[in-house]
Amino acid sequence: MNIATHPFDALMNITARPPVVFVRGEGAFLWDDHGKRYLDFMLGWAVNCLGHSPAIVAEALAAQAKQLLTPSPAFYNEPSLKLAKLLTDQSSFDQVFFANSGAEANEGAIKLARKYGALHKGGAYEIITFEGGFHGRTLATMSASSKKAFEPLFEPKVSGFPKAQLNDLASVQRLITDKTVAVMLEPIQGESGVWPATDQFLRDLRELTKAHGLLLIVDEIQTGMGRTGKLFHYEHADIEPDIMTLGKGIGGGVPLAALLATRAAACFEHGDQGGTFNGNPLMCAAGLAVLRHVAEPAFLKSVTDTSLYLESELQRISARHGLGEVRGRGLLLALDLKIPIAASVVAQAFEDGVLLNAPRPDALRFMPALNVTRAEIALMTDCLDAILARIGAARLVA
Ligand SMILES: *Cc1c(COP(=O)(O)O)cnc(C)c1O
Repeated sequence: MNIATHPFDALMNITARPPVVFVRGEGAFLWDDHGKRYLDFMLGWAVNCLGHSPAIVAEALAAQAKQLLTPSPAFYNEPSLKLAKLLTDQSSFDQVFFANSGAEANEGAIKLARKYGALHKGGAYEIITFEGGFHGRTLATMSASSKKAFEPLFEPKVSGFPKAQLNDLASVQRLITDKTVAVMLEPIQGESGVWPATDQFLRDLRELTKAHGLLLIVDEIQTGMGRTGKLFHYEHADIEPDIMTLGKGIGGGVPLAALLATRAAACFEHGDQGGTFNGNPLMCAAGLAVLRHVAEPAFLKSVTDTSLYLESELQRISARHGLGEVRGRGLLLALDLKIPIAASVVAQAFEDGVLLNAPRPDALRFMPALNVTRAEIALMTDCLDAILARIGAARLVA
């Protein structure tokens, strides 16, 4: 029975959304159904890495849609072979399993590590993860995450994810037992507020895991695909992890994710892993177009140059309004506001036609398109500057 009274009511109400409908996107901009334009510095959480509806992705999708949608995951298809080849050529990994979401890729990484433990480590299954980490919304990835709001939900959780402290090697060491098979982390914790692991910590973690015969899993769903100025964040630390997951930007706006592993770690046997839409040619064709573009050294250099500009602009604003640090790397940055005004800044920016994200009550996160222009950055910082000036003036009066 259809008892919906408003078109919004037919969708499950899983989050508070503003009462507008988005109908079009182009580059750094979105338009709603009233024709209002928004400058987008969220990009669906760093998903549309080349901006909204980039021609190369639209064309790759259109061409592939006419050619072959999917033959079945039981057969090989060209786009998935080409994308897997390019991903392994461009990284330190040997094999790829494609997934449809970041959580599914991480679920696969967890399964792969447990399989490795079953085969090589006497049934060891524990994966050490980190306080403040976020790995997705399936039952296992929620358990691997450490998000306060998840704690009371959907009990019982999946067990086997002891939590260490980021950038504290001793806290990892203390959790290692004969049940441990892997350590898994985001090189920059995104959802909890943009908290980077130091390059030294990543190197130490690589040494420690090697010494204990443990797998090192990097969740690069937010940090991968050029977001930090290298194709993959682990390159900054000059390490070679055993397993990596990608998502978000890899599809340039379409649902695609990937689980990558070294030959030694890629131990799935027939029947262990699969999925109806996994590695379908349509999404892989989009991923191929994105990767060919993003992996160009000149493009990655431009990401670094742009990020230095954004960082200096945010620092200028911070100094001007007496705010806190700018943290993160590349085009994944946060501005510490020091006081819990992030939600009101985001709401005001929305009114003013700028989409910002507040991962915590006292911080803003910036994840614009990798090809964002300086003019677009200036438009955003002018808006933010004005909002902060108004809030500052109001606080003085109050
Ligand atoms: C977004 C995200 C995920 C989950 O990806 P989904 O596609 O939403 O399932 C996992 N890990 C990290 C680091 C993320 O940023």
